[in-house]
Amino acid sequence: MGKPTGFLEIERNKVKWRDPSVRSQDFLEFAVEHDDKARQEQGARCMDCGVPFCQTDYGCPVHNLIPEWNDLVYQGRWNEAYWRLRLTNNFPEFTGRVCPAPCETACVLGINEPAVTIKDNEAAIIDRAWESGLVQPRPPRYRNGKTVAIVGSGPAGLAAADELNQAGYSVTVYEREDRVGGLLMYGIPNMKLDKTLVEKRCNLMAEEGVEFRTGVDVGKDMSIKELRDSNDAVLLTVGATNPRDLPVPGRELKGVHFAMEFLTANTRSYLNSKLSDGKYIDAKGKKVIVIGGGDTGNDCIGTSVRHGAESVINFELLSRPPKERDASMPWPTYPRLEKSDYGHQEAEAKYGRDPREYNILTKEFIGDGEGNLKALKTVRVEWSKKPGERPTFAEVPGTEETWEADLVFLALGFLGPEQYLAESLELDTDQRSNYRAEYGEYATSVDNVFAAGDARRGQSLIVWAINEGRGAARAVDLKLNGSSNLRG
Ligand SMILES: Cc1cc2nc3c(=O)[nH]c(=O)nc-3n(C[C@H](O)[C@H](O)[C@H](O)COP(=O)(O)OP(=O)(O)OC[C@H]3O[C@@H](n4cnc5c(N)ncnc54)[C@H](O)[C@@H]3O)c2cc1C
Ligand code: SF4
Repeated sequence: MGKPTGFLEIERNKVKWRDPSVRSQDFLEFAVEHDDKARQEQGARCMDCGVPFCQTDYGCPVHNLIPEWNDLVYQGRWNEAYWRLRLTNNFPEFTGRVCPAPCETACVLGINEPAVTIKDNEAAIIDRAWESGLVQPRPPRYRNGKTVAIVGSGPAGLAAADELNQAGYSVTVYEREDRVGGLLMYGIPNMKLDKTLVEKRCNLMAEEGVEFRTGVDVGKDMSIKELRDSNDAVLLTVGATNPRDLPVPGRELKGVHFAMEFLTANTRSYLNSKLSDGKYIDAKGKKVIVIGGGDTGNDCIGTSVRHGAESVINFELLSRPPKERDASMPWPTYPRLEKSDYGHQEAEAKYGRDPREYNILTKEFIGDGEGNLKALKTVRVEWSKKPGERPTFAEVPGTEETWEADLVFLALGFLGPEQYLAESLELDTDQRSNYRAEYGEYATSVDNVFAAGDARRGQSLIVWAINEGRGAARAVDLKLNGSSNLRG
């Protein structure tokens, strides 16, 4: 445990973010602090709660050994803290920055006091480990002569590659983009997760023996069947990249885009040329409406503010969530609470109002007569729920509104993976079109083909992708080797 009386004496102290109006001038990370002493004090707040819910299924999906490393941080034993963390999490520098931290909403101290700053402590351990040279290539001592092809280099594919490589397999990761990392690279913007961290991690894995082949769209540039025939196993970690559309009148107008068209092009242009090549959708001087809350919507808000949009509004069909837990979301479950994320804060600082509009449904996109978007027509909705049934909404008569807009970004979630690999392999899919494979088993309906991450479970979280990548590596090892020392 941390200091026995730490939680009574020390207040929660999160890592500070740069001021919203300053940080929205650039694409650099918004968290600033590297203060070991502050983190040691926060480690001291971890109490001897007996049953640490933070590391159970309610909390951290990779079951990080949180109380153990909080105690080591408190004692200043940073190197040991790193080795404890490394046991369960292949990429703490990613989760320590962008995880929504279900560990903290399950923290026992959080029942009646602000929770321990678990996520910030995690980031501090790994950042310090990189800075002090503790993170070094560890190529496996022997190779077992078996090969595994992994399709997709997001966190699920990377975690599986890391585990299988350490276990002696020869692993090749295929990625259709020009850079590896999946949504770590081309989904989450640079200010949330600096891309040099993704590159540094992948370079380390390459030094350890993982082979990365970018610019290869498996199923198009290369046959998936051939890949299967030439390897002992294939793991599909292709993500859930099929975006949900909004098929209302005017959808074809110029200026209506899927969120990922905006975010991917922006990061690519930023990395290639600091946005000087102009190969991105520019929101400068535009009236922007982002449809859909969630992480993706928030990232569109933050990116539009950085471009210098004239205005940014965010539509959400659901009602404004409560600020505190209610009976429907008791501790230690993950609650749906109202939170002001980085993009909301930045939009508010720049435009003087919270950008979010709740209970609003888009009915139509209106053009200017020349094929360009000019405005949106909306109506307000009311939600109701009968016992035992799913909530439904009804339009409220007389609440029609028109909103001027030059750019709309659709951030309405994702409908599973693209289907061309499933079709050529004749893989079973589930009713949500994800690749069918039992959680924990990861075997698809085709022999020696496995699936994990968002492609299997639907759009989720980095930490779940890491969990599934690790589990899939163990499943592959069990199948090819008959037993496994991988932890999963
Ligand atoms: C904008 C956005 C912001 C997000 N923010 C957060 C956040 O803050 N915190 C969080 O925890 N989660 C966040 N998420 C969710 C998180 O990024 C995903 O759950 C996670 O990346 C899924 O990992 P994955 O490895 O399964 O797939 P992905 O990361 O989607 O990677 C799949 C990769 O497979 C490649 N691929 C697909 N088909 C082929 C093919 N045929 N051949 C070769 N390569 C192929 C794709 O190009 C892609 O690189 C966000 C998601 C989005 C869209
Ligand atoms: S990975 Fe996420 S849930 Fe697990 S300890 Fe880190 S912040 Fe918490």
